[in-house]
Amino acid sequence: SREIHLTKNFTGPVKPDYFELAEVDVPEPNDGEVQVKNEWLSVDPYMRGRMIGVKTYVDPFKPGGSMEGGAVGRIVKSKSDKYAEGDYVFSMHGWREAWTAPAKGLMKVDADLLPAQTYLGIAGMPGLTAYVGLKRIIDLKDGETLWMSAGAGAVGTAGIQFAKAMGAKVIATAGGKDKCALCEQLGADAAVDYKATDDLAGALRAAAKSIGSKGIDAYYENVGGDHLEAALDVLNQYGRIAACGMIARYNDDRPVPGPANLVQIVGKSLRMQGFIVMDHVDLNDAFIKDLSDWMMAGKVQSKETVYEGIENMPEAFMGLFSGTNTGKMLVKL
Ligand code: NDP
Repeated sequence: SREIHLTKNFTGPVKPDYFELAEVDVPEPNDGEVQVKNEWLSVDPYMRGRMIGVKTYVDPFKPGGSMEGGAVGRIVKSKSDKYAEGDYVFSMHGWREAWTAPAKGLMKVDADLLPAQTYLGIAGMPGLTAYVGLKRIIDLKDGETLWMSAGAGAVGTAGIQFAKAMGAKVIATAGGKDKCALCEQLGADAAVDYKATDDLAGALRAAAKSIGSKGIDAYYENVGGDHLEAALDVLNQYGRIAACGMIARYNDDRPVPGPANLVQIVGKSLRMQGFIVMDHVDLNDAFIKDLSDWMMAGKVQSKETVYEGIENMPEAFMGLFSGTNTGKMLVKL
């Protein structure tokens, strides 16, 4: 069976030589274990942090060993009474084609209810992340105006649709015309192509005006850098920022200075709060309930970009930083 290993820990832009395809044996399961053939692998921006070689909120990946990541696969051999052959499970045993591990700690997924890969996207971690950011961190209210950054990505496409279902007006930003069109198709009231303007704050103000909003009440931060600066500029008094991620910073060689206009946070009484989705899993039941209602009402759909074959996983991962994905970036085996 094949898996992807890291060749070294690194800072700076991600390069193909930092990954290698390794051949490994998959052991027979012992009592309490299962053997699984992965069908869907997830690549996510947070994985970049684990490639640096410094402990953050999770341990770094070690060069030459198996990496971790979200995966959905089918049980092919079971020595656990919890799982039967053919069951679908979510695990963190990603970046590989097959594995054997204790059944404890796996999560069964219902691939009849929703397509198996949605448990890595809208019905999984990125979906919950969008939900937590909007519900708990921003506490988005009916009628408010939200700016969703990286709007055409996994968290972004989920967040636009959830925010609309919560009764908000949504302005999305994304790179390129097609991505902006997708954001609008998913319900965004306006979309701004951040690559086509050198005055992001001005473009956002114009977008808010065009949809009859009195400015922007809340900002869902996925990007950092110039986006955060624009947010500090355009947010209304008492505006809220959910700091979910800052992908524009993940490939930096060294820390760069923060927003030049940070002082705005004082005068406007802004509130900015970061969060890690795993600290908010208590919201998962409410999330699944709302998501099913919204999906049943036709308000929410899943968007995905799929690369095929384990050998293309590094390319899929690198694509997150150049924006080759719309919706959730996935690798199908
Ligand atoms: P996405 O599917 O949004 O993929 C990343 C997207 O980011 C790209 O498609 C690209 O879109 C955009 N992007 C990349 N580089 C830049 C840049 N320099 N400037 C502006 N946009 C850029 O990924 P996810 O939805 O999985 O993640 C989105 C964010 O949420 C990330 O910051 C991630 O770290 C964070 N996150 C945080 C979690 C938490 O617990 N706090 C959990 C999950 C995700 P475009 O073409 O539009 O530029």
